[in-house]
Amino acid sequence: MAADCIFCKIIGKEIPSEFIYEDDEMIAIRDINPKAPVHLLIIPRKHIRSINDLEAVDEALVGRMMTVAKGLAVKEKTDKSGYRVFFNVEKGGGQEVFHLHLHLVGGFDRG
Ligand code: AMP
Ligand code: ZN
Repeated sequence: MAADCIFCKIIGKEIPSEFIYEDDEMIAIRDINPKAPVHLLIIPRKHIRSINDLEAVDEALVGRMMTVAKGLAVKEKTDKSGYRVFFNVEKGGGQEVFHLHLHLVGGFDRG
């Protein structure tokens, strides 16, 4: 756990947050400032600063984050209408929280 990392504190339950998904490697929460009807964050328990800091050992983890995102899209009923998954990388890429997280943004036109 990294000091003063808000996502490490959420994972460690120092800051209360509802986990809409969790397993031994990652959690998912709703973004506190949603940009769409569905805006989830898939966050590995391991503190990795950004995509820039990924190592070969993290490849399976990042792959699983995508599979978890796919499952959550189904659960949130945005799989058919569509959604975006993305990482912001460092300040110029729009990253504000420096603990790796995958955004899942969708929920438009769900009918
Ligand atoms: P990024 O700009 O890619 O670093 O995204 C960070 C995201 O985390 C933003 O969309 C914030 O709204 C979101 N966020 C920050 N603090 C919290 C929190 N306590 N709970 C849920 N989402 C948060
Ligand atoms: Zn962290």
